[in-house]
Amino acid sequence: MTDRYAVIGHPVAHSKSPWIHAEFARATGQDIAYRRIEAPLDGFARAVDEFRAAGGCGANVTLPFKNQAFHYCRGGVSPGARAAQAVNTLLFGRGAVRGENTDGIGLLRDITLNLGRAIAGKRVLLMGAGGAAQGVLGPLLAAAPQRLVVVDRDAGKARALAQRGGAPAGLGYEELGGAQFDLVINATSAGLAGEAPPLPAGAFAPDALGYDMVYGRDTPFLAMARAAGAEARDGTGMLVEQAAESFLLWRGLRPDTAPVISALRQR
Ligand code: NDP
Repeated sequence: MTDRYAVIGHPVAHSKSPWIHAEFARATGQDIAYRRIEAPLDGFARAVDEFRAAGGCGANVTLPFKNQAFHYCRGGVSPGARAAQAVNTLLFGRGAVRGENTDGIGLLRDITLNLGRAIAGKRVLLMGAGGAAQGVLGPLLAAAPQRLVVVDRDAGKARALAQRGGAPAGLGYEELGGAQFDLVINATSAGLAGEAPPLPAGAFAPDALGYDMVYGRDTPFLAMARAAGAEARDGTGMLVEQAAESFLLWRGLRPDTAPVISALRQR
């Protein structure tokens, strides 16, 4: 029997997850079906309950429900999901639901394996203090950077996130001064609005990587990184890597991500 999965969000029509998981299933010979479920803003738990009752095996969770998914899983969340207070992968067992967060490992795998960049010993700037920044902060710190600074338009939010996540510093952009970073990660949604965060141009160290989690478009932040002489990369690789981690959790197999990343870039 075909095992059924879904991505649950609002809106969700734009999600590339069904295509990515269909590619993984084809390449690994797994018999799965994967669809989109648009839950009403006040109906996340109901949508999950219905999908479970209909025989679903697991689900991905996207905006704006990752925090609700964390609460839905009650006791059954991974340490990473607990630290992030956000779940993007649900595993349905008999009567119980387990929650995981694969965003952080997805980002790390893209930066270190696909882009060949070290995080250990490097100066890292994480821009944004929303769900995406929360999800990746713990895994980034675990990769042992020399320095990690969280920055947000709301300095209070940056400080609170840094404190909660054990990062040494949370700042407003105006507090960055002349500090330079080897890795500048844009975990804001600014690119979706055609904007760049108010980052001082001097923030890129020589040979830096500017990484925008927004994918599939050339954002003003990526242009800013290129203009500063940095390598500029979007979040396509992270998207595919976090999906591969979900697939591994569900199916016990790690799909090859390279062909899917390059096919997604052509679409
Ligand atoms: P949230 O809505 O939770 O947070 C948005 C963040 O962006 C806030 O910190 C907000 O700052 C900041 N922001 C918005 N506009 C600007 C701006 N013009 N200048 C500076 N900061 C700005 O969103 P998420 O954290 O969940 O997601 C952020 C992005 O990451 C999304 O675009 C999403 O597509 C992407 N993403 C990509 C993934 C991938 O696999 N590639 C995975 C997860 C997310 P403030 O606090 O000041 O309002």
